[in-house]
Amino acid sequence: MRQRYTARAVVVGDRAGTVLPDAVLDVADGEIAWVGAAADAPPAADAEVTALPGLLMPGLVNTHAHGPMVLFRGQAEGLPLERWLREVIWPREARLTADDVEAAMTAASAEMLCGGMTTSVEMYFAPERVAAAVGRTGARAVIATPLIPLPGTPPLAEQLRDAVALATRAPADGTVEYGIGPHAAYTLPLPLLRDAAAAAREHGLLLHLHVAETRAEDADLLATHGLSVPALLASHDVLGGRVLAAHCVHLDDADLELWQEYEVAVAHCPASNAKLASGIAPVRGMLDRGLRVGLGTDGAASNDGLDLLGDVRLAAQLARLREGSATALTAAEAFWLATGGAADAIGRPDLGQLAVGRRADLVHVDMADLLFEPVLSPPDVLTHLVWSGTSRLVRDTWVGGRQVVRDGVCTTVDVEALRADVASRAARLATG
Ligand SMILES: [Zn+2]
Repeated sequence: MRQRYTARAVVVGDRAGTVLPDAVLDVADGEIAWVGAAADAPPAADAEVTALPGLLMPGLVNTHAHGPMVLFRGQAEGLPLERWLREVIWPREARLTADDVEAAMTAASAEMLCGGMTTSVEMYFAPERVAAAVGRTGARAVIATPLIPLPGTPPLAEQLRDAVALATRAPADGTVEYGIGPHAAYTLPLPLLRDAAAAAREHGLLLHLHVAETRAEDADLLATHGLSVPALLASHDVLGGRVLAAHCVHLDDADLELWQEYEVAVAHCPASNAKLASGIAPVRGMLDRGLRVGLGTDGAASNDGLDLLGDVRLAAQLARLREGSATALTAAEAFWLATGGAADAIGRPDLGQLAVGRRADLVHVDMADLLFEPVLSPPDVLTHLVWSGTSRLVRDTWVGGRQVVRDGVCTTVDVEALRADVASRAARLATG
């Protein structure tokens, strides 16, 4: 059965910032079958028609998240990064169970769906339980199985073997994809990174790691090897294939050239980088070199609201401040970094844009609000969405054509019950 949606406007999510006023979008078999002006729409007598009073946009693609960290939201406010990790986050994570991970990821996923995010790239412990959580909410996820040497975890080579084995068991319907998530060059031995990258290339998996988040983290590597982290990764055969590097705040021109040469994609996390005073990533320079860049929220312990639409605005603001130019990142480009550009960055051309043949991941945003006036020409819709918009105006969300948020409420899970569950688990983890 074909579903037809009419909307006051369709925001496509392409680089040009296309807005189609008075538009129609058809969905068949979970994919977008037609999109364009209502006046040009094909006849569809058999279609079930839903008239949406607001705008339709693509489901946002969050390119870097640690969803289960909603358990630690707001904890240790004001502590410097090192103390925040050692005194607050790591002791709690040491007490985590797989049940905690699934419950917290379910809550995070519901929160993201209500905020218009339909896909997130996750990196967290118990990846199969992260997958179970998005199976409950109906969201999509690319789950990079973390490789990290922590007390009580198996040897790294075994972690890598398990990660590759898990990746082969992903469902074929595109809801869950597994990748490999070696944490970072400063926490892992270089041979392991090389092996992880080789395995990712061999199986076509996303390799997701943290690079140059803070100025200090890579200083030891530079002192030991005399190379920046990008140069070190290149010299150890870690680059090439589907590599997605989170943060990339402290990259110089030579590093960016290496990223260009190896087609490394970047998960830019402006809110997390601002909260932790890590710095402002050189997004303009990345885009000018043709790098693929997507926006990420990072975990809720360092953002804290999982609100990618808010981060779109912050990305534009910070890029303009960094470059001292009001044209450094346009509203259209900033929005593209959370939609079509983000899908490109994670190597998923089936997501991120409202275009024929892509998956029907749709978000309906209420426009009956003062902050959406005036609309004097179609591009004003996108301008308002970026500069005035808020995820609180998200009314409905569909993933693969299936509605998972209706009138602002998640329809697949009980958010009130999840809220109570997360609260009690967080209290237990805080006290041991
Ligand atoms: Zn991270």
